[in-house]
Amino acid sequence: MPGPGAFLIGEEEKKEVLDVLESGYLFRYGNEDDPEFKHKVATLEKEFAGYIEKEHCVALTSGTAALLTCLSALGIGPGDEVIVPGYTFIASISSIIYAKAIPVLAEIDESLTIDTDDIEKKITEKTKAIMPVHMLGNPSDMDKVMKIAKKHNLYVIEDACQAAGASYKGRKVGSIGNIGAFSLNVFKTISSGDGGLVVTDDKTVYERAFGFHDQGHKPSRMGVEVGERSIIGLNFRMNELTGAFALAQLRRIDNIISTLHEKKKKLKDKISGIEGIRFRKLNDSGECGTLLTILFESKEKAEGFCKIVGTKTVYNSGWHVYNNMENILGKKMPTKIGCPFECPFYGKEIEYRKHMLPKTDDILSRAVNISIGVVDPGLGAGFGINILSSDKEIDDCAKSIARAAAEV
Ligand SMILES: *Cc1c(COP(=O)(O)O)cnc(C)c1O
Repeated sequence: MPGPGAFLIGEEEKKEVLDVLESGYLFRYGNEDDPEFKHKVATLEKEFAGYIEKEHCVALTSGTAALLTCLSALGIGPGDEVIVPGYTFIASISSIIYAKAIPVLAEIDESLTIDTDDIEKKITEKTKAIMPVHMLGNPSDMDKVMKIAKKHNLYVIEDACQAAGASYKGRKVGSIGNIGAFSLNVFKTISSGDGGLVVTDDKTVYERAFGFHDQGHKPSRMGVEVGERSIIGLNFRMNELTGAFALAQLRRIDNIISTLHEKKKKLKDKISGIEGIRFRKLNDSGECGTLLTILFESKEKAEGFCKIVGTKTVYNSGWHVYNNMENILGKKMPTKIGCPFECPFYGKEIEYRKHMLPKTDDILSRAVNISIGVVDPGLGAGFGINILSSDKEIDDCAKSIARAAAEV
């Protein structure tokens, strides 16, 4: 089982979901005069906004829908460029494409999040936003991202899909930029199978986000409000069963983060100081603790280590590395990207090539993800421990790491 939330499904989730089943109200809107209607989605939005310390939250069907909603709510569209790291889940990139904007790939640094030195090099007169991705639960260097954004008058959209519960300098990630997106799919900190959340403090942006996800309607509509719709939207609404499940998971989040920190510390302490083992840079100790990333001196050592313990380097693990995104590689923006529409771009053509980000390639070829809470071979984290691991299992894992490191 993949993410920590998914390991902890229990009575609370059952109770929340049963509440909805017994009420008969599966849609997020219901009869406000009926005490049976439980408002699970609306409650989730309120509790998540409170948890993140933002004014507004919209619950949606996925993290991908959340990202597209963020971009649309900010009015990012044809010809606009958005700077995004080349190490991320493809949804960060595809949501930009479907907003009819242009993803501009930036390098990562040894935190495995966006290299802030590379951001300024990628800014053009068309740049509208930066999308830092808090990869593997590690916050991006938000002070620097925000400083660059302010200097160049850019929006910041935080892709916090892998980092619900992480904080940066005392603030929850997702709450620092103009708008933040979260995912509730099964690989994330907390899960409802699928689902997404958007948070912001800006009322206008919130109303646009809400409308985009609900056919143009205003928040908390009562029935169909013809004549009240100011934008054209789609439908990415969350249903009550999902909302109920997510609510039970949200109430576990502090416990999940503290348990991951405790288990990660145990494992990290046991392998710290071993020759050849160094860890990725953490931009804040408030990271999620979902993974422990080892950086080896060379690609050869990293691959040798992986062969022994039965895993893959991040570079070789697939999905999240731009080099492996065959559906964008070799295609040229504006119109040959595989969109089902002709994008009316006026910007320069941008080609996505293998090895266009040499620093990213170098770091990822030396990086190995050890699972702490997210067990996902697609992320290169098929080896390690999980949130339920005992001290003995943590000890065994540390011994395997030490043995393999000594051999390479
Ligand atoms: C999981 C994820 C998403 C969105 O995922 P969904 O499966 O659509 O919920 C977006 N960005 C990143 C970095 C992710 O890891």
